[in-house]
Amino acid sequence: MTTSLKEALKTHFGFDGFRTKLQQDVVEAVIRGDRDVFVCMPTGAGKSLCYQLPAVMAEGITLVISPLIALIQDQVDRLKDLNIPACSINSKLPAGERRLILADLESSSPRLKLLYITPEMVASPSFQPCLSGLCSRGLLSYLAVDEAHCVSQWGHDFRPDYLKLGDLRARLPGVPCLALTATAPKNVQEDIVKSLRLCSPLSFVTPVFRGNLQYDVIFRELLPNPYVHLHAFVKKALGLDSRSNAQGCGIVYCRTREGCETVAYQLTKLGVLAKAYHAGLKAGDRTEVQSEWMQGKVLVIVATISFGMGVDKANVRFVAHWNLAKSLASYYQESGRAGRDGLPSSCRTYYSPKDKEQINFLIRQEVTRKQEKRGSAKESDKTAITDFEAMVSFCEQEGCRHATISKFFGDKKPNCAGACDYCRDPKAVRAQLERAATLSTK
Ligand code: ADP
Ligand code: MG
Repeated sequence: MTTSLKEALKTHFGFDGFRTKLQQDVVEAVIRGDRDVFVCMPTGAGKSLCYQLPAVMAEGITLVISPLIALIQDQVDRLKDLNIPACSINSKLPAGERRLILADLESSSPRLKLLYITPEMVASPSFQPCLSGLCSRGLLSYLAVDEAHCVSQWGHDFRPDYLKLGDLRARLPGVPCLALTATAPKNVQEDIVKSLRLCSPLSFVTPVFRGNLQYDVIFRELLPNPYVHLHAFVKKALGLDSRSNAQGCGIVYCRTREGCETVAYQLTKLGVLAKAYHAGLKAGDRTEVQSEWMQGKVLVIVATISFGMGVDKANVRFVAHWNLAKSLASYYQESGRAGRDGLPSSCRTYYSPKDKEQINFLIRQEVTRKQEKRGSAKESDKTAITDFEAMVSFCEQEGCRHATISKFFGDKKPNCAGACDYCRDPKAVRAQLERAATLSTK
């Protein structure tokens, strides 16, 4: 079984092996086909392959639901480059092409392997005869719902049309369903299973805990010179003091453009070349800063959170947050850009109660603005606030930082083994909190 899988992986996709054991386990479970499957793996982990490989190995057609035409187009183009018969039916498709696709789907042995479709289109009356036809002739191999967090009102990309997929699922008895997402919080996971009516699905979830990441929190107001402190951290994380020529780089996240400029200037003045990256720069300059950092010409990029999406760099040795992240979920994602190569890396937050007040104010203002526009309050408005509060308690707590993150995402308590400041030296964490408390009462 495994050898033929590996062969198929090589033949159709040109890959020498699976990315991870988890990816292989998912593919095997999907091919077994006796249970629905739920997959939660981070962006870039290779979720698409989890249905694409079973799809090319199966007799019939795999229906893939994806929320955006742009995402769909990208995937279909890649598959076509690999000579895998894939296409998409969407509102932008010329009528002629659409007729050709439908004719193939109605033929006795369709050529197509993967059909990508938006949730609107799959629910549209015009598509129903084709769908029922495929189903009654037993030609549907799998139903894959990509970006499945879109069904959840708790998620960040809620799409009402995703809610109709539960009905679709119910109309396709015997077709194994596979739901995929990169969004891990427990409530979102539960929503997905419920809304898509998955039947006791097998879950494959990348553990939240990453033992190579060293988390700590520094109270910025207690520092005589915060920039000198940051500079020392950067030098240590990049191994600039030692004689080893370890090459690595890092990211400092700031909330504002001015913050980025100041921190980049200060670090450079202290002797580590750092460049700012934010929406105030011209697009060309932004691209240049990013590519200099990707190539290792600039070791430190000082950026707003607009930086990092889709950036996949293995040797990021540190991620520092000069300002508080807006939720623990986003903090986990942003700090998680460190150490993708599995080597020890540092994630530090420079915490300041002033930041807390400011960000708290901004979040509440945003929630009020949304409510006024909508004319009503929503349960999900609270999420923005509680998720921020989780970020604040992460900083202000006396406890294992990894445990807090794992618990937030509904995972069991990990074995931190000294991979955070609290587990390494609880007394120092307490001392810092006590000093901060005296400062705030002054
Ligand atoms: P996700 O949907 O989880 O964000 P993708 O499915 O888009 O990730 O895959 C990310 C990248 O990883 C793609 O370029 C894909 O070709 C590549 N990839 C997936 N599986 C493997 C593998 N087994 N070996 C090598 N590269 C892989
Ligand atoms: Mg994906």
